[in-house]
Amino acid sequence: TGIPTATISRLVTYLRILEGLEAQEVSRTSSGDLAERAGVTAFQVRKDLAYFGRFGTRGMGYTVPILKRELMRVLGLNQTWNVVIVGVGRLGQAIANYPAASDYQFQYVGLFDVNPELLGQQVRGLTVRHVDELREFTRTTRVDMGFLAVPPERAQDAAQSLADAGVRGILNFAPVVIQPRTLERAGQQEISDEWRAVIVENVDFLAGMKRLAFYILNPHLSSAEPE
Ligand code: NAD
Repeated sequence: TGIPTATISRLVTYLRILEGLEAQEVSRTSSGDLAERAGVTAFQVRKDLAYFGRFGTRGMGYTVPILKRELMRVLGLNQTWNVVIVGVGRLGQAIANYPAASDYQFQYVGLFDVNPELLGQQVRGLTVRHVDELREFTRTTRVDMGFLAVPPERAQDAAQSLADAGVRGILNFAPVVIQPRTLERAGQQEISDEWRAVIVENVDFLAGMKRLAFYILNPHLSSAEPE
């Protein structure tokens, strides 16, 4: 009963295309047009959208602002998301300074690190606090997502700090698999309550380069088939 991850990724792509069309004041589009711009088939576009409802009129295509609004609603981008950055080093600071996130109502509300030289410093108007203060922080400020940009060997602990503070979504940039903390109960390993609600998305650009290396060496093995 799930929806393929690839569908959600493509919805994000369709949304970006619709934004481009809107910027060019194009008011109508079709599954064929979206498909061509997204590099997929028209069937794929219709199938992806059909998971969430009927957005167009048969033979008439889609109204750009309406489809855009509907995709934003489906993706949850019509509400504000409060984000903390854990690990304010090279990557964490680059992210904090990248303004586009605010276009989608992602708001950075806190920065957390452990490095004494960073604590108390201001980055983009936010003070860097110690990660041990995260739990206290979430008592007064709603935090929906945590952006994890700590060294790989610290990622599990830092993810734990986020889970303990009740943060439900973690965007993990460290090249490690975050394990939910398990409890030993009646001889069986069980996922602890804080972790049950946590969703981890991994972003690994090195993994992308490794895939690319493979496909450059094996071009005949690359497949344009949709997942
Ligand atoms: P960095 O060393 O510049 O910064 C890491 C920061 O995390 C430091 O400020 C450190 O004090 C802090 N930190 C350490 N333990 C912590 C903890 N428990 N809680 C909170 N903060 C803690 O590293 P970076 O280059 O920014 O990379 C961060 C992560 O992102 C790494 O896992 C890296 O592999 C990954 N990454 C980096 C890049 C890049 O281009 N820099 C790109 C993709 C992924």
